[in-house]
Amino acid sequence: MDDIDCAAERVESFNQVALNAVLSRLSGPLSSGVCKSCFDIIEPERLDANPRARHCSYCAAEEEARGHQHRRCGPR
Ligand SMILES: [Zn+2]
Repeated sequence: MDDIDCAAERVESFNQVALNAVLSRLSGPLSSGVCKSCFDIIEPERLDANPRARHCSYCAAEEEARGHQHRRCGPR
């Protein structure tokens, strides 16, 4: 009964995709879990607080410090 196993797996991964789609529609793309600056892993508690975090807390602090130089996000 490989077909059933396969179908169940497909449903499961579809749910995952659908969930991600809903989440990203609600709040923008989720973090990859890896810092974009130093490619270190972002702290889980940081991702917990902000699932869209793109930087580890160290780089986020640095980004914030020079955020006034180039703000590409526009007004908030
Ligand atoms: Zn970093």
